[in-house]
Formats: sequence, structure tokens, C-alpha cells
Amino acid sequence: MARGVYIHIPFCHQICNYCDFNKVFFKNQPVDEYIEAVGKEIEMAVRKSPEQFQEIETVYLGGGTPTALSAKQITRLLHHINSILPTDQLIEFSSEANPDELTEDKLEALINGGVNRLSMGVQSFDQQLLKKLGRTHTNEHVYETIELAKKIGFDNMSIDLMYGLPGQTMEQWEDTLMKALELDLPHYSAYSLIVEPKTIFYIQYAKGKLSLPTEDSEADMYELLMKKMAEKQKEQYEISNFAMDGHISTHNKIYWDNDEYAGFGAGAHGYLRGIRYSNYAPIKKYIETIQNNEQPLLREHKVSFEEKCEEQMFLGLRKNEGVSFEQFEKKFGVSMKKLYGNTIEQLKIEDLLLEDEKGVKLSHKGRFVGNEVFQRFLLED
Ligand code: SF4
Repeated sequence: MARGVYIHIPFCHQICNYCDFNKVFFKNQPVDEYIEAVGKEIEMAVRKSPEQFQEIETVYLGGGTPTALSAKQITRLLHHINSILPTDQLIEFSSEANPDELTEDKLEALINGGVNRLSMGVQSFDQQLLKKLGRTHTNEHVYETIELAKKIGFDNMSIDLMYGLPGQTMEQWEDTLMKALELDLPHYSAYSLIVEPKTIFYIQYAKGKLSLPTEDSEADMYELLMKKMAEKQKEQYEISNFAMDGHISTHNKIYWDNDEYAGFGAGAHGYLRGIRYSNYAPIKKYIETIQNNEQPLLREHKVSFEEKCEEQMFLGLRKNEGVSFEQFEKKFGVSMKKLYGNTIEQLKIEDLLLEDEKGVKLSHKGRFVGNEVFQRFLLED
């Protein structure tokens, strides 16, 4: 049964140099048809299996950029969502946003449509670095938008930051952290740059034209991030996420808890009835399929018992609370120690994992090499 719903809005007014998400440049796209198609996709799914959506706790508008839509388009999208899904019971209704797109009428459309959390793509407070990333906003946009959002009634806001950027120095990162924390927001996310294939950065990197900080500098930046967040009482609750009391991202926690969620929109992923699935990514194909009353399903994969156990560990260990022995056994009918006893012992010896009576979690050292630790939980066939 879905605990959350993800809705993908694949339009952007700018294309960032590092981005490998499913997105297209807004201009000349069939945006209105897309909004109608998303509404219809949700309606078809709820009509087919209403029981899957009875207990949803979160809706998350991601992208692309949901705030690339006009206020009128946002209102239309939220009207579809609210008229089909039981949104009056939600704990959290989030939208991603770009700081230079959040006008007063869009903020009002969002709040009137039930959105109660904004996640803003700020990335850096260094104008030169923002330019390198291909971002178009300025620091003033961030300050003004946050003020305006507060005035309109948003008290739950998060910003995304990035480190390990081309040419980024420790001083620049510290300055960005300081400026971000001065805003005293309830939630912060910070990710290191990964150069993904099919991005401008990838081409530059392949040509030797992208100078990235060394692995050691990146680790120092991560260390500084954790230190600065702790100094300002933003508790780290996941490898890359920090929050004040009571402001963790409920929607993202659904992913890390390895629970089920529905995904709607072009290229969206979902996990329902033990099946992971993804939709067609090309916008035209997505719209046409729905107009023909068909599900826009590209692929699905029934998750095996072993894969479920592995995912529980990979995803759960991202959280500071780690993975609970009790919940693991309740979910899979087998104790974690029976499946992973040797792995856990070895990782403890290497000082990468901690164990207490409740369960296991990454050590401080383990957080720096999370992916290596996760791989150790792959089960033999
Ligand atoms: S990072 Fe966000 S705003 Fe930039 S291109 Fe990707 S989806 Fe669009």
C-alpha cells in the first residue's frame, strides 16, 4: 500500500550543467496537455486500486521544476490531485521550487492547493559557482523568495546545497554554509556533485575541462557540513539531510524506510505491491499513451525476497537511526543477524558500522564511504 505519492513535472526554464533528471526546456512544450495527462493517470490508478491510496501520508511534486508552471497551471494540477487523492489526511505536501520562479501568485496557488512544504534548489551562495552550474538565480532571489514565502504562510522550508563543485574552495563552501544557516530554516539537504553521463559537465570532464576538488577535499567539505549543521542544532538524520526537531522530510523517509509509494508523470518511478516500476520518459509518448486510456508503463520489476532485504539495508543505513532488528524481522520473517551476522561483525571491526540493542547504523567513518558499506549487504544468489 502506498505511503506516499511522487508526481513528476519535467519542465525547466533553465537546464543545469550537472542535471541528468528527466526534464525538458519549458518553451514550446505541451504543458497544459501534460497536466491533464497527469490528472488522468492518477485517476486511472485510483479507480483501478483505490485501496492502494487510502493511507497516503505525503504527496511530493518533483521535477524538473514544478514552479516552472504558471500560477494557473499549478492551480489546475493541484485541483486534479486534490479531487482524486485523499489529500486532507496528508502529513506533508511538498513541492520543489526554484528561487527565481516563486512569484507571489505561484506561492498563493501552492498554499491554496494544500502544499505545506517547499524544497528550494539553492545549491550555492557563490554567484560564480552558480553560473558554472548553469543556475540563473541570485542570492537576492533566495532571500526575497524565502521572505515572501514566510509572509504567505510557509513555515516548513528546505534548501538544497551542493559541494565538491568545479573549482570550489573550502572557503567558498564555508561561506555558503554560513549564509544558508543564517536563514535558520527547519531543513537542509546537501549533496556532493556527481558527474553523470549525458550532462554538460560530463562532456567537459571527458575533455579534461572540468577541475573537480580531490576526494580528500570533498571529504573535508562533508566533515565541515556536519560540523556546521550540528553547531546550529540541525540534526543529521540521514547521510545528506539535516533538520530541526519535527521537520524531517516524511516523504523521503518513506524511500529510506523501503516502504511503498506511487509515482506519476513522465519518467516517474514507483514501488507498489512489491513491484518497482517506471513510466515512459518522453513527454509526447507519455501523454499519447494516457490519451489512449493506457497505463504509461515502461518497465516493471518484481522485487525478490533477497533484493528486498538488501534494499532495506542500503536504504535504511542512510538514516542516522539505522536499521532496526525488530522491524527487519517483522518485515521479512528472518532475523537480520541470521542473514547478515558475518557482514555486520566485519564492518564493526572495520569501524564502519555501530550496533546497539535496537539495531545497526553507520559509524562516523562509515558515512564517508556509505556506498562501499551498502555493497557489502548484497546477498549471494
Ligand atoms: S537541476 Fe533542476 S532546475 Fe536544473 S535542469 Fe535539473 S531539474 Fe531543471
